[in-house]
Amino acid sequence: MPADLVFLGIGELFTGQPGGFLKEAGIAFAEGRVVWLGPSDEAPSARRTLDARGSIGLPGLVDCHTHACFAGSRAAEFERRLAGATYTEILDAGGGILSTVRAVRRASLAALRRTLEARLREMLDLGVTTVEVKSGYGLEPEAEEKMLRAMHAQRTPVEVVPTFLGAHAIPAEYRDRRADYVDQVIREQLPRCAPLARHVDVYCDRGAFTLEEARAVLEAGIRLGLKPRAHAEQVAWTGIAAVAAALGATSVDHLERLDAAGVSALARHGTVAVLLPSAMLYLHDPPPPVKDLRRAGVPMAVATDFNPGSSPMRDLWTAATLACLAMGLTVEEALLGITRHAGRALGRSDLGWLGEGSAADLVLVAPPPGEPAEARVLVQYMGGHRAAWVVKGGHIVAGREAGGRRAGRRRLPAVG
Ligand SMILES: [Zn+2]
Repeated sequence: MPADLVFLGIGELFTGQPGGFLKEAGIAFAEGRVVWLGPSDEAPSARRTLDARGSIGLPGLVDCHTHACFAGSRAAEFERRLAGATYTEILDAGGGILSTVRAVRRASLAALRRTLEARLREMLDLGVTTVEVKSGYGLEPEAEEKMLRAMHAQRTPVEVVPTFLGAHAIPAEYRDRRADYVDQVIREQLPRCAPLARHVDVYCDRGAFTLEEARAVLEAGIRLGLKPRAHAEQVAWTGIAAVAAALGATSVDHLERLDAAGVSALARHGTVAVLLPSAMLYLHDPPPPVKDLRRAGVPMAVATDFNPGSSPMRDLWTAATLACLAMGLTVEEALLGITRHAGRALGRSDLGWLGEGSAADLVLVAPPPGEPAEARVLVQYMGGHRAAWVVKGGHIVAGREAGGRRAGRRRLPAVG
């Protein structure tokens, strides 16, 4: 039986495995699965064969940590921070996350969905086929549920992995009653939101939730079937990374202040370390202990942390380059960080690699003019690599060669 779709002549195909760089490769899809991958001249026959000569292929990229569902603008806050105000000072004055909370509470579900879709389409054009999106700008049962419903209602080809983050900040009205807010998260928000989410996340830090509060929220989420994750050791060390790892967290994220015991805990439990270099730069934080994580064999993922305050940056390619420049990752670690290890951070063994049993998600990119068709140049050059083709679930869904958003309507040049 012929395949549905074959790409031939891919200059270099990165399979999402260490050392997995194939030259002059081809890949075939049928019924939403990868059915063949190998040297171009051994490709099976297919109903549709596309000439991808000179392109670079990678598994569909996975952005495993974003806050892409939000309303309002925080441009003024950016200027305040440049003038010297700290993130925690702005939060204490009712700005930061709390200003986004006011905007999200006011926004309709339809408005939240529309801006989320516009952002996801931009990410898809760069080859990002799976995006984790967190709630956490509602901070009350109804608004948290509204955010998660907007994620489910979005109609782009991007797969959204929804995460419940009711413990993102203490809302203004609970400022002097934080125990009551934690109680509301556990007794009201979680039961209402758990059916709409895959993960439960917490922001455990100075100015946010304490270790004991964070543990209680994670345990309550786990009881409702959610997989735990945590914003960990970012502004101040709290010990949450080791606690979350012991609770079975698929990932702990940020980690600028991770200690040696935390590194060992991640290694022992197979927890992914998610590195967020853009947030680190926007907040002037020191780099996480990448050498220690590498030595301990902890898988490292890289994500945008796209949000309107500490990381207004939605280009996962740029995050990969910044992870090398500002944190010391190798190019191959950065490539694994936005593919296979990002899939693992979401507890998804099918995402971020290509082969039998993988998701049928592929991105094909032309190298910058004059450069060879090698995956490493996409990390060397910072950001903005618009895809020629994006395949999700075995179907072409975006890309310049596919006619952008009009994917599928225009006839493509065929060979073979
Ligand atoms: Zn975050």
